[in-house]
Amino acid sequence: MNRILLTATWNFGRLAVERAFNMLELGASALDALETGINAVEMDESVQSVGYGGLPNRAGYVELDAAIMDARGHRSGAVAALRGFRRPISVARRVMEVLPHALLVGEGAAEFAREQGFEEEETLSPEASEQWLQWRETQAPPADVEDSHDTVGMIIWTPDTIVVGCSTSGLKWKYPGRVGDSPIVGAGLYADEEVGAAVATGNGDEISRVALCSRVVFLMERGMSAQEACDEAIRYLMRKRTDSSGTPPHAAVLAVRADGSFGVSASYAKFPYALHDGQSLTMGEREALEPE
Ligand code: ASP
Repeated sequence: MNRILLTATWNFGRLAVERAFNMLELGASALDALETGINAVEMDESVQSVGYGGLPNRAGYVELDAAIMDARGHRSGAVAALRGFRRPISVARRVMEVLPHALLVGEGAAEFAREQGFEEEETLSPEASEQWLQWRETQAPPADVEDSHDTVGMIIWTPDTIVVGCSTSGLKWKYPGRVGDSPIVGAGLYADEEVGAAVATGNGDEISRVALCSRVVFLMERGMSAQEACDEAIRYLMRKRTDSSGTPPHAAVLAVRADGSFGVSASYAKFPYALHDGQSLTMGEREALEPE
């Protein structure tokens, strides 16, 4: 097989990468592989921050965000606050392929999914519902707000393709209608055929405020390695948004340059990610970047 590289966020990134790699081996396109890999995490009920099984918003219903970007042609599609569909990455891909628009939200996104023949299903799992009912008793903010979310974000690189995608249920108990970084091109993901791609996870409100992934790609365009660009972009976020107690926002970013080199950085300790170089899959763990 030609040289390829696949990478995905968090421990569940292993599942996404394994599925995507299997698809590539069977001769699938990078976009099909990316969609299948992310679908696997979306459909895994035990993952409480992505797709079916994701924890709901404060009103008790699940709103899902996802986006996909194909560096070739600079194409993208996204959905935000989507209700009733378990595989938002697939709906996002359809937005990219059939509409002139970059992002659909809420009822419009659901309407489009229906029109496209996606099956409408329950997205609140029994376990997520149980946790919400317990939370509703106290309505306490999550004990550790930084612990109440995660995104599956994946990049697939081959010598002639770069595709990136991400999917999340966002922050648990979020305000209805809240949209994080994941469906926002430039914030949660970005790709440029001549430069490379980046995908983020972490506190999506903060990631959006600094347009994190477009910064990573811009820094690579200015000549930085993927690793330098990830570090510099996370440092920028820490510089701009560390709170008065000295705590930086939680954020992590993965990047692949157009030459196939890889970078990862995080504002906090032990960020796990999966990496497949076409030969073998390894799980990495990134230490927190030191503040300047
Ligand atoms: N970035 C996602 C959001 O804020 C969650 C995460 O990746 O942890 O919606």
